[in-house]
Amino acid sequence: MTWELLYRIGCWTLIGLSPITFLTLLFVPAPYGRHRRAGFGPEMNATAGWIVQESPSVFLFALVFFLGPHRWEVAPLVLLAMWQAHYLQRTFVFPLIMRFRGTRTPWLTVGLAVGFNLINASINALAIAHRPGGYALSWLWDPRFVIGATLFAAGYIINRRSDAILRSLRAPGETGYKIPRGGLFRWVTSPNYLGEVIEWCGWALASWSLAGLAFALFTFANLAPRARAHHRWYHEKFPEYPKERRALIPGVY
Ligand code: NDP
Repeated sequence: MTWELLYRIGCWTLIGLSPITFLTLLFVPAPYGRHRRAGFGPEMNATAGWIVQESPSVFLFALVFFLGPHRWEVAPLVLLAMWQAHYLQRTFVFPLIMRFRGTRTPWLTVGLAVGFNLINASINALAIAHRPGGYALSWLWDPRFVIGATLFAAGYIINRRSDAILRSLRAPGETGYKIPRGGLFRWVTSPNYLGEVIEWCGWALASWSLAGLAFALFTFANLAPRARAHHRWYHEKFPEYPKERRALIPGVY
């Protein structure tokens, strides 16, 4: 099987799975974090789960990237740096600093995330280091790259700042939930998810690839229903929850 064929199969698998994922998660929230509940099989340590599930995005991405013919060219290396800036934090920092309520998470969600990350890391590394013809150096000042990289940086900052606000809601050892305030929480329930969606839309533009588009679509399909489930959960638990706040997109959704 050629890289090209693997790439197409991977991209279209994620694009095809996006509407299925969206519809499924609208009715069955992924059972981790506050939506963790019985009936989803054996569980493992939540911190280890995050590290295991996100690791392919660091290691497999790097492996496929450095097998590519364009691995030492400047534009692919800049894209590699953007990708790893996100995934090194998500894999090795986020799970160790966050204060999870439960210490357990289902193997099922970890397994599904591993499957997704194996495909997603492969196709996105193929997209940038094996791209037919590569990227010219001038790609770095092409408006698609400049706007995409700016969106990526904005999403990255929104995601990190929102996760930091969530982390600050619990003292070490605390497990309860409080109403988050400040930052983009003024407008939406899940600004961390909003930041994540903006980041990967930026990546899609900056890499100008089918893989980037597939990842952005899948991220929205995964996180929009979860933002909606969080939003409903807050309204059920906290009668004083701010009425003007939306789930994911300020003023819209
Ligand atoms: P959540 O917003 O559900 O939780 C993030 C962290 O904050 C958890 O430690 C959670 O604890 C804690 N927390 C959340 N709300 C409160 C509150 N009201 N009071 C106290 N603590 C709170 O995010 P996820 O766990 O779903 O996702 C984590 C990160 O991973 C996000 O940045 C997200 O964007 C990213 N992600 C990306 C995906 C993608 O498809 N690209 C898919 C899934 C996640 P607890 O776990 O105990 O609830």
